[in-house]
Amino acid sequence: MFNNTAIQGNAFYSMDFNKIKYVSNGIFCVSNEGYIDEVYEEDHKDYDLIRFKYLKSGKLRILSDSEVMLPGFVDLHIHASQWPQAGTALDRPLETWLGEYTFPLESRFKDLVFANEVYLDVINTTLTHGTTTAMYFATVDRESSILLAGLCGESGQRGLVGKVVMDDPSSNSDFYRDASPEEAVYETEKFINEVLKIQNTYKQKIYPVVTPRFIPSCTPKALEGLGMLARKYDVHVQTHCSESDWAHQFVKEKYGVNDAKALDNFGLITEKTVIAHAPFLEPDDLKIIAGKKTSIAHSPLSNAYFANSVLPLKDFRSKGVNVGMATDISGGYSPSMYQSIRQAVISSRMLQEGVNPSLPRDERGRPCSSITINNAFYSATVAGGIALNLPIGKLEKGYSFDVQIINMENNIPRFYKEKNPEDLLHKILLLSESSNIKEVWVQGCRVK
Ligand SMILES: [Zn+2]
Repeated sequence: MFNNTAIQGNAFYSMDFNKIKYVSNGIFCVSNEGYIDEVYEEDHKDYDLIRFKYLKSGKLRILSDSEVMLPGFVDLHIHASQWPQAGTALDRPLETWLGEYTFPLESRFKDLVFANEVYLDVINTTLTHGTTTAMYFATVDRESSILLAGLCGESGQRGLVGKVVMDDPSSNSDFYRDASPEEAVYETEKFINEVLKIQNTYKQKIYPVVTPRFIPSCTPKALEGLGMLARKYDVHVQTHCSESDWAHQFVKEKYGVNDAKALDNFGLITEKTVIAHAPFLEPDDLKIIAGKKTSIAHSPLSNAYFANSVLPLKDFRSKGVNVGMATDISGGYSPSMYQSIRQAVISSRMLQEGVNPSLPRDERGRPCSSITINNAFYSATVAGGIALNLPIGKLEKGYSFDVQIINMENNIPRFYKEKNPEDLLHKILLLSESSNIKEVWVQGCRVK
């Protein structure tokens, strides 16, 4: 009858896009399956009784005043295979970044020893930065992509992993692509089956993801086949969508419609689809995306380098689109979702105010675009759970116990009591380093 474990302490999570819930000294009861069974707040009538029971059974962990629980982050878009080049060549043109750096690197993952080393490191690094769930692009190579999924499983991270498809000979180099559309679909189906076979071996589970890199790198035949696989297996889908001027125009010219419509025609826009970036979505695209409950992975750091624009997050949300957050290693250089949160707020303010001082003030920006720290925190947690259709991102009954325990003793100045708990949360979100993340828990298991 008794739960596996309970932790007593202060905690923050998002109630909704704007509101933060602060739990003071709450008792979070965690089931054997790793879900939050109940949260007892101090004013609950049974608080003392429950606390006494847990204490007596030796199962109550009590956090100190300098420790705070936050939900683990959901990184909705990260290229695990690009981790070795994080922080490299970002000031080079996109073609150079892709052709001279990225594709040669990704092609090396046929070497399973290399893949094992890199993938373990990216999983450990993101976990230690508080990322409890990650949606990964691996590479074209099936075997090492399965390896990545298994390593997520063993490391305790909830990994959603895709074998990348890029089969069009007219847009990919011969040294790094699927040999044909048939092979791309065959390899993807094999990948899905292999991952599904081991999915439940791990308490937090791992998930296969159908992953066309983006429309310009795939043949229509491959995209059609991938759409069929997404339907047949009811699995997640991820791809880049309307990321840059070039990509947006390319699809328009090739298919006569925008990315979102083209993807939808191939059966790749579903409730379980995450489209990365997508700043150039137009009103009709937004209708499709919102109607299908597809989500966007906002990657503010990489957008600053490669997207020619800032995602109008607030506007897209007002049209009914769910927007989660991502690091986009290595278009974004940092594995930390804290950096994504910070950059999302900064970029949105620049979008609102405008950046060209020679323009008159009222012509400089896009009104009503700036987001708050609360908004960004919601995107990095709750919106990620919504995007993936998983009970993650909140610290409420029924949610997975995915938690980072922050120790505020370093980096975060504590010379007075903040005016309200929210001020403290903002300090934590803006100042924390990975060294402040003392522990990380996924599905009720401690992994850091
Ligand atoms: Zn990407």
